[in-house]
Amino acid sequence: MQSTAYILSGSNLGDRMKMLLDAEDLIEKYAGIISAESKVYETAAWGNTNQSSFLNKVIRISTPHSPEALLNILLEAELKLGRIRDEKWGPRTIDLDILYYNNEIIKSAILTIPHPEIGNRRFTLVPLCDIAAEYIHPIVKKNNNELLNQCSDQSEVKLFSQP
Ligand code: ATP
Ligand code: CA
Ligand code: CA
Repeated sequence: MQSTAYILSGSNLGDRMKMLLDAEDLIEKYAGIISAESKVYETAAWGNTNQSSFLNKVIRISTPHSPEALLNILLEAELKLGRIRDEKWGPRTIDLDILYYNNEIIKSAILTIPHPEIGNRRFTLVPLCDIAAEYIHPIVKKNNNELLNQCSDQSEVKLFSQP
């Protein structure tokens, strides 16, 4: 049985665009088929502003894996792409977060779905609205477009064009 998941990818270290593309290769190899992708956006670092800016993108995948198995695949892909996990919100070659998984609501020690920060982050909502504007958040019961309109995050999220 196939499930639908939305994944946010982010990079602010190294060749950021290549990181996003390499992550997608690993996702297609191990996690499932990519069925939609947002544009790429550039955003000032969030939480810890003393670092370089991020590229962010959201993809939709069709996957046979459970949410926990998908998380493990993504964490492994992060390691393959050289992510070192040290300071909270520190610079990273790649960050892969599960935003939604079908309409499921999951809260365990290792996994929270929907991702708890969706509604607070423009860098998540802007790309998400490229491919899932009408998708309804299963807890808040509003679609992503409504979440973006009511989001109080002021950070600038710019369309990224390859230099
Ligand atoms: P944030 O979650 O606020 O964006 P972060 O992405 O920097 O922070 P990480 O250090 O990448 O946080 O992840 C820490 C842990 O979060 C992961 O090891 C994973 O177990 C857990 N986690 C919980 N829910 C999710 C989710 N929906 N997607 C990805 N990881 C999650
Ligand atoms: Ca994250
Ligand atoms: Ca993460």
